[in-house]
Amino acid sequence: MRYKIVIRQQYVSIELRSKRRKVMKRSGYLSWDEYFMGVAIMSGMRSKDPNSQVGCCIVSEDNKILSMGYNGFPKGCSDDEFPWDREGSDLETKYFYVTHSELNAILNYRGGSLEGAKLYVSLFPCNECAKAIIQAGIKTVVYDSDKYALSPATIASKRMLDAAGVRYYQYARTGRKISFEV
Ligand SMILES: [Zn+2]
Repeated sequence: MRYKIVIRQQYVSIELRSKRRKVMKRSGYLSWDEYFMGVAIMSGMRSKDPNSQVGCCIVSEDNKILSMGYNGFPKGCSDDEFPWDREGSDLETKYFYVTHSELNAILNYRGGSLEGAKLYVSLFPCNECAKAIIQAGIKTVVYDSDKYALSPATIASKRMLDAAGVRYYQYARTGRKISFEV
């Protein structure tokens, strides 16, 4: 008699559980591309360059962030002493001194090889960065803006990336706005 009651209680509890609605994962979470391009853009916000802020994020083939970078002067070269000017003599403008975000991200990586990695960048890589990307073994470049597409530096860059078999494609903006307080 006692034995029978126990069995019945178990049956009831199993039935109740099966009627409960399953909780589904949330929708609207960031896609990998949104996430990594978002990290690249946010890295660019660290740049002290008053005219151009470019950010980069390098990820492994299995979507792990390996490195990040933004455009700026090398270590020890003061942001307050070196020039940010765009016009003037060679030594008084920024171009001789600034390291681009892609090269910074490559050089910042201390974990070994970047072979097969994917690079997200907010502006198409210049020819100098393309050389570093190719030599580092990076196989894919995802870029946002290509506003200097007609410049010789970008044309040379694409020529080298094509020759080296580095795939590149433009990030497809989703129009999602991300805002948060820090
Ligand atoms: Zn560059």
